[in-house]
Amino acid sequence: MVKKSIGIVGAGAAGCVCAYYLLKAGHEVTLFDYGSPLRTILPTGGGRCNLAHAEFDNRELAANYPRGEKFLYSVFSKFSTYDTLALFEELGIETYVQDNGRIFPKSNDSREVRNKILDKIKGINFSKECVNSLNKIDSGFALKTDKSEYYFPFVVISNGGGMKAKHINGINHNIITPLPSLVGLKANITNLSGIVIKNVYSYDCNIKDDVLFTHFGLSGPLIYRISSIKARDSMPYKLIFDLYPAMPDLQQLLNENSKKELKNILSKFFPHRFAEYISAEHSNKKGYEINGQIRNLISNKIHNFEVEIFGTDKGEETVTSGGYDLDEINSKTMESKIYPNLYIIGEALNIDGFCGGFNLQNAWSTAYVAASSIINNNL
Ligand SMILES: Cc1cc2nc3c(=O)[nH]c(=O)nc-3n(C[C@H](O)[C@H](O)[C@H](O)COP(=O)(O)OP(=O)(O)OC[C@H]3O[C@@H](n4cnc5c(N)ncnc54)[C@H](O)[C@@H]3O)c2cc1C
Repeated sequence: MVKKSIGIVGAGAAGCVCAYYLLKAGHEVTLFDYGSPLRTILPTGGGRCNLAHAEFDNRELAANYPRGEKFLYSVFSKFSTYDTLALFEELGIETYVQDNGRIFPKSNDSREVRNKILDKIKGINFSKECVNSLNKIDSGFALKTDKSEYYFPFVVISNGGGMKAKHINGINHNIITPLPSLVGLKANITNLSGIVIKNVYSYDCNIKDDVLFTHFGLSGPLIYRISSIKARDSMPYKLIFDLYPAMPDLQQLLNENSKKELKNILSKFFPHRFAEYISAEHSNKKGYEINGQIRNLISNKIHNFEVEIFGTDKGEETVTSGGYDLDEINSKTMESKIYPNLYIIGEALNIDGFCGGFNLQNAWSTAYVAASSIINNNL
C-alpha cells in the first residue's frame, strides 16, 4: 500500500471521522482547526448528541433533507444508518433509540462521543491553525494557514456550516449563500411569549407538531421544521395554521356551554392566556351571546391562524442551508468535479436536514465516502 498524505480542513464531526477511517487504513493525516477538535459535537442534542435517526430505508432517510435529498441516495447506499451504528460500536459507544426514533449514546453525554472519537485518532497531526487559502499546484494543493504553508496531494474540506465556517480562498467552487435553518422565526405576534400549543397543523408544509410562542415570534419543533423547508424562501411570507384540527364544532360547544364565557369554553382546548387572546373582545361573552358572525370569526382564527414571518432568530440556527454547490461534487466519491483529489464533506456542502440526527448522519456518511474514495484512489 502506498501511504498517502491528506490535509483535512476542519476538525468537526465530518473531519474527525474522515481522519479516523484514513488513519485506520494506514495513511498520514494532518487535521487543521482554529479551535479545539470536535468541540462542535458538545452542544448537539442538548448535550446528549442525537447522533443518527432510526430510519433504515435509505430513500426515506434522504427525504429528511430539504437540500441534498437526491445527492444522498448514492451516499447512503455506501454508508447508511446501519453503518453509523456499526461505526459507534467500533468506537466503543453504546447507543439506544428513543421513542421518536432519535438515536443517542447510552451515556446521554456528547462528551463520551467526543472523547472516544478523539481517542481513536490520537496518532494524528493536529494543527491548531486557521486555513486561509488552498491553491492547486501540480497534482496537489498548497494550503496556507494563519501560521504556515503546506503541500498535500489530497485535501478534504470539512469546515462546517456556512454561517460559522471561515472562508477558504483560492478554490473556485460555487458556494450557495448560507442562510439559517432549524431556527425560530420572527413573527408579527410577540405578546404570547411562553405559550405552547400542541399538535398544530401547518397548511403550508403539510406537517403537524408543537408550537412555542416566544418574545420574537414562533419557535418549537413545528417551526424548526418549517424554517428548514422554507429556509430559501424570501421574506416576508405568510404561514397559516390549524391550531386544533380535531376541535369539535364551535357552535355545538357554544350550545353545550351556553352559560360559560367564551374564554373558558376555549380554555378546554388551549392554555387560558391563549384562549383569552383568540377570543379577544368577545372573551367575556357567554356561549348564548355569541352570534354566527362572531362564531365564524373565532372559528376562522382557530383553523386558519395567519402569521406573518419577517425574519429568523439571528444567531440561533443549528444548521445552515447553503454551502458548496452539489452540482460540482461527485456524489459517489465526494470528490470535486473541478479539482481532482479535493474532497468536500459534511455541512460545508449544500446539504441540511431536519432535527433528529440527520445532520450528523450526513457528516458520518460523507466522511466515510470521501475516506474510502481517497483510500482507493490510485492518483
Ligand atoms: C446547538 C446545536 C445542536 C445540534 N444538535 C444536533 C443533533 O443533535 N443532531 C444532529 O444530527 N445535528 C445536530 N446539529 C448539527 C450538527 O452539529 C452539524 O451538522 C455537524 O456538526 C456538522 O459537522 P461538520 O464536521 O460538517 O461541521 P462542524 O462540526 O461545524 O465542524 C467544522 C469545523 O471546521 C472548523 N473550521 C471552519 N473553518 C475553518 C478554517 N478555515 N480553518 C480551520 N478550521 C476551520 C470549525 O472550527 C469546526 O471545528 C446541531 C448543531 C448545533 C449548532
